[in-house]
Amino acid sequence: MSALHLRGVVLPEGEERDVWVDAEGYVRTDPVQGADTVLDGGWLLPGLVDAHCHVGVDEHGGVDETPTESQAVASRDAGALLLRDAGVPVDTHWVDERPDLPRIIRAGRHIARPKRYIRNYGEEIEPEQLVAEVERQAVRGDGWVKLVGDWIDRDAGDLTPCWPAEVAAAAIARAHELGARVTAHCFGEQSVADLVAAGIDCIEHGTGLTHDVIDEMARRGTALVPTRVQIDNFPTYAEQAGAKFPTYAAHMRALHASSDATLRAAYEAGVAIFAGTDAGGVLPHGLIGREVAALHDTVGLTPYDALGAASWRARDWLGFPGPVAGASADFVLYDEDPLAGLRVLASPARVVLRGRVVA
Ligand SMILES: [Zn+2]
Repeated sequence: MSALHLRGVVLPEGEERDVWVDAEGYVRTDPVQGADTVLDGGWLLPGLVDAHCHVGVDEHGGVDETPTESQAVASRDAGALLLRDAGVPVDTHWVDERPDLPRIIRAGRHIARPKRYIRNYGEEIEPEQLVAEVERQAVRGDGWVKLVGDWIDRDAGDLTPCWPAEVAAAAIARAHELGARVTAHCFGEQSVADLVAAGIDCIEHGTGLTHDVIDEMARRGTALVPTRVQIDNFPTYAEQAGAKFPTYAAHMRALHASSDATLRAAYEAGVAIFAGTDAGGVLPHGLIGREVAALHDTVGLTPYDALGAASWRARDWLGFPGPVAGASADFVLYDEDPLAGLRVLASPARVVLRGRVVA
């Protein structure tokens, strides 16, 4: 593996400078002898982060290593070099041995209620088992645990919370004792209110946020990963459930219709928003650029905030720094300034992962 030299505009600072990468793949600020120049005059962005995807599943459940590898490569080639996996039923730790594949921060397996989640995805349990299951998944994950916060309740014919508030609070407290953070899938209003009050660290989707809950998230520092591209599938879910569950269908359509106003209110209140594609299952991998564009175009984040939500800010949040001396050289290079036009995210000029040009 050879040393690299890059000269370009380094984001988010926006200053043109030299970045050197030693033969071990680490960033150096002093020149490295014999380095290959792989960027001269473009833009250098800290490697993108997909803060909500699933590596190792398709719409039927867990998949084996070949499709898992293809998913990881699709994310990588789109510039997503750090993936926060929001729950899979398979063990993907073998990916950690592959320097050419993105880093994965796992949340173990989804914790769901029986028959109230996508079949073959979750660990399906009753509320009295939640604390013990959180303990198990905290061990399987890399510092995160994922709850399914709400889902259709076929008896009620609508979305309802999966966990009594006091049980969720005990489980979150236990995860924190074990050093793990907790996040939850929440579409509706009640689950997100309960879980934010219970001290959860992050909310996925968040279409049911009310102004009071948004204020509480901003006050507590609870993060939000809206998966904005995925929210556009809500009308399809409503259509599929329509005849049998009309209340649920109407609820999903209403959540979709208000989603941009809801998410914009969270942004304006100062809630920390991160970009996640929810790839795996319904959506393919490699859509991080589309999610960033959606956060700007439809939710109203500035280009700087939308890009930060998928790069330097998400890296800070997850503990993976940008191009500072001693950090792993994980960058995406562009021929044009992403802040001047987010569409360029769809076509990186080069992708550098652990100091190797991988795409
Ligand atoms: Zn998901």
